[in-house]
Amino acid sequence: MRIANLNGRSAFVFGEAGKERAADIAAVSDGRFGPDFAQIYEHWDSLCEWAATVLPETLQAQSFILNRDQLGAPSPTPRQVFAVGLNYRAHAEESGFAAPEQLPPVFTKYVSSFTGPDSTVTLPEGGNVDWEAELVVIIGRELRHADPADVWASVAGLTAGQDISERVSQLRGPVPQFGLGKSFAGFSPQGPWLVTPDEFTDPDDLELGCTIDGEEVQKGRTRDLIFPVPLLVATLSQTVTLYPGDVIFTGTPAGVGAGREPQRFLRAGESLDTWIEGIGALRQTFVTGQ
Ligand code: ZN
Repeated sequence: MRIANLNGRSAFVFGEAGKERAADIAAVSDGRFGPDFAQIYEHWDSLCEWAATVLPETLQAQSFILNRDQLGAPSPTPRQVFAVGLNYRAHAEESGFAAPEQLPPVFTKYVSSFTGPDSTVTLPEGGNVDWEAELVVIIGRELRHADPADVWASVAGLTAGQDISERVSQLRGPVPQFGLGKSFAGFSPQGPWLVTPDEFTDPDDLELGCTIDGEEVQKGRTRDLIFPVPLLVATLSQTVTLYPGDVIFTGTPAGVGAGREPQRFLRAGESLDTWIEGIGALRQTFVTGQ
């Protein structure tokens, strides 16, 4: 099952790539579910049970052509947002760190930086704006002291994300300023939709990457995560309670601009295309301010 945020309303997505159709969940369910996302995730198990009973003809009859311009982040109002650094060995190395043996660094990206999959992002003046293609997990059930073996059943779905990062403000000061350096307007694009874990042959082994104006800069596989999704979510839940709709950026593979020799950052006019196997693609175009 795929669920999109279309102008703030939850919608099923179906059909082949590039010809997707959508059906409004509140309309199809006669108001039982949605349109609000907080309500969708709060009643995730009931939604999945009901969705399995909806006939393809019913969905088709109420469907319309999906307009990508209307797509927003698949969980637009999470109670908590987590992001993880140095969760791929090769990225830890290019960043000048040993691969973490304990839980990698955890920080947040503020919700005001969330957008849908296609957007124009303003480069902050004097900043070095970098790219980080990431698998994003959306939680479907409240979790506390979870066992890794139980995690996939409690994940609502996966989506593609970019953890866009301004390195000057992230790294200046007595200690790094991760949350703010990664939360400028438009710095957390996600989408194009949520895909439930059962849609993947192996949700723990997905290819992901990104290109700048067509040049490949990152390409990796989530099987190389030091803390794969089950262990990462279970470990977070030893400290915090995770709530339905919570968003977790799982870390980026090697190939970021700050790890290059010489370093390279995004420039006005460049386009960043990010993709994850079985999910879809994002496109960000960068402009200067004023
Ligand atoms: Zn990141």
